[in-house]
Amino acid sequence: MSAGGRRPIRRLEPRTIERIAAGEVVERPASVAKELVENAIDAGAQRVSVRLDGGGLERIVVEDDGEGIPPEELGLAVERHATSKLAPDGPIDAIATLGFRGEALASIASVARVRLLSRPAGEEVGHGIRIEGGEVAGRFQAPRAPGTTVEVADLFYRTPARRKFLKSPAAEQLEIVRTLARVYLARPSVALRVSTGDLELAVYPASVRLTDAAARVLGPEAARGAMALDAPVPGGRIEGCLGAPASGAATSTGLYLSVNGRAVISRSIPQAVRAAYGDSMPRARFPVGVLAFTIGRDGVDVNVHPTKREVRFARERELLDALRVRVREALIEAPAPSEAPLGRPSPAGRARMPPPPLTAARSSLVQARLDVSAGRSEPALVAAPARWELLGCVDRLYWVALRDGGLVLVDQHAASERLLFDELRRDGRLARQQLVAPIAVTLTALERATLAAESEAVAAAGFDVEGFGPEAALVRAVPSYRGVRAAAAALAGLLDELADGVSAGVGPGAAERRAATIACHAAIRAGDEIEPATMGAVLAALDAEPGRAGSCPHGRPIFLALPRARLDRWFLRSGA
Ligand code: ADP
Ligand code: MG
Repeated sequence: MSAGGRRPIRRLEPRTIERIAAGEVVERPASVAKELVENAIDAGAQRVSVRLDGGGLERIVVEDDGEGIPPEELGLAVERHATSKLAPDGPIDAIATLGFRGEALASIASVARVRLLSRPAGEEVGHGIRIEGGEVAGRFQAPRAPGTTVEVADLFYRTPARRKFLKSPAAEQLEIVRTLARVYLARPSVALRVSTGDLELAVYPASVRLTDAAARVLGPEAARGAMALDAPVPGGRIEGCLGAPASGAATSTGLYLSVNGRAVISRSIPQAVRAAYGDSMPRARFPVGVLAFTIGRDGVDVNVHPTKREVRFARERELLDALRVRVREALIEAPAPSEAPLGRPSPAGRARMPPPPLTAARSSLVQARLDVSAGRSEPALVAAPARWELLGCVDRLYWVALRDGGLVLVDQHAASERLLFDELRRDGRLARQQLVAPIAVTLTALERATLAAESEAVAAAGFDVEGFGPEAALVRAVPSYRGVRAAAAALAGLLDELADGVSAGVGPGAAERRAATIACHAAIRAGDEIEPATMGAVLAALDAEPGRAGSCPHGRPIFLALPRARLDRWFLRSGA
C-alpha cells in the first residue's frame, strides 16, 4: 500500500489495456515470427519467407503468397478482436485456422512499428498501411505479387523495460528458428525459408511426406534408422517419424508434436513415447522425432491461449495407451541397427601393452597429463602411473585396473567427464586438438543457429568451427580426449543440447549445468576405443587431485573399488 493510501478504482486507458494484452501475445521476436507465419498459413500461402535483422529485434519481414487482405480491411486487420476467421455466430470449436482471436496484429502493432502491404488476387497493385504507436500513420501503394508482406520493426521500442528481458540477437534468432521449425513440422506442406542478411538460416521445402520434413529439421543423423508411424488411435490417426533408440537426446524437446496442423506442447505424450522405448534407450535419454495427430473435433481441446499451446485430449488415457502400443510395435519392426554403439566386444579384449608411441595426433591434453605422471611411471607400464596397473578393458567402457593391491573398475566416460568438468570450472575452457585437415560436417538449421548463439560454449568445449556453405561447417579443432571422433557426432550432440538449454541458461546452478553439458560432449564416450596411454593419463589425473569427487557431474559413479579387504570378505577369508 502506498503512503498516499488507496486510489479509487478507475478503468484502464484503452492504450494501457492494449499494452498489457500485447504482453500475452508478444513475448519476444520468436512469438512475432510465429504469429505472422501462422497468419500466412491461414491465408492459404504455399511459400512463406521470413527475413530477420538483429535477431528479429530490429526487423522481421514475413512475405507470403496467400489470399491477401482487401485494401478496405487493412485497418481492421490491426484492430483488436477483429478477425476474418470466425463466422458471426459460428461455433468456436469449429475452428480450422491457427488464429481466430484477432489479437496478434493488434498486439504487435502496439509494441512495434508495423507496415502491412497486401495484394489480393483481384487487385492490380499492393495497398499498404503504416502503423506507429498503434495508430494508422499513413497509406501507400506499391507493386507486389499477390500475397501479403508484414514488416515489424523496432520491437518493444516503446517499452524499454521489456527489451531488457530479451537475450542477445543471436539467441533470439535461434529461438525464432526453433519456433518456426515447430510450425513447419506441424504444416510441412507449406515451404518456409528463414534468412538474415544474405545468410540462409533455414530452408524447409514443402514436403508431402512427414518423414522428409522431419529429416530436414532433425538432420540426416537422426533420420537414419528412424521409424515411420501411421496408425489409427482412439478418435483419430497418428502419423509420425521417430528416431532409432541410439539417436536419443538429452531432453524431450526433440520430439515435435502437432494436433490438426497446430504445433502443441504436452507432458504426457513424450512420457508415453519414452515409456514405449523402455530399456532400448539409455536412461536419461529421450526420443527425437515428429508426431502428428489428426483428431476429430470433439476429441481434442487445444487450449488456444496465445502462447501456451498445451493440448488436452478427451480420451487421453486410451490415446496414450494406443500410442505406447504403436510405438512399441514400430520399435519391434524396425530393422536392427547395423552398428550397435554399445555391447560390442572390444576386438582387443584386453588393453594392449605396452602402448604404441605417442603420435603427433595424440592430444596435447593427454600429453600434459602424461607429463604430470611421468615422474611416477614405471618403464614397463608406460601409461599407468605407479599406483595403477592396467589389466584391460570391458566392452570399450569399463577399464579394469589394480590399485594398492585391490581391483578397481573405472567408467571411461564418467572419469573423463569429471576431469573435463573440473578443468572447465578452473580454466574456463578445455584443451583442444588441431586437426591436420579440417573436417566438413553437415549441420541442421537449428544447429547452425545454435552455433551462432553459443560460439563461446562451443569454443570452450575445444571445438574450432567455422561456417562453410549453407548447410555445412568446417571443424578445425576438436576436444582433446575424443580426437577426430568428436568432429561430427559430438559437435552436433553439443549443439543440440545447448539449443535446449538456451532458455534454461539462467538461475542457480546454471553455470554448473552448462559446464556439465560441455564436459559430457568433450569426454570419452562408451564405445570409444581408448589407448592404454590415455587410460593411464586419465587415472593419473584423477589421482593428482585427491579431493576430486568420485562421481561425474551428473552424479554417476566413476569407480567401483574392490580393495583387498573386501575381496577377502567376499571369499570368506577372514584371517587373510
Ligand atoms: P487472427 O489471425 O486471430 O484472425 P490476427 O491479428 O493475426 O488475428 O490477424 C487479423 C486478420 O488479418 C486475420 O483474421 C486476417 O483476416 C488478416 N491477416 C493477417 N495476416 C494475413 C496474411 N498474411 N494474409 C492474409 N490475411 C491476413
Ligand atoms: Mg493470427
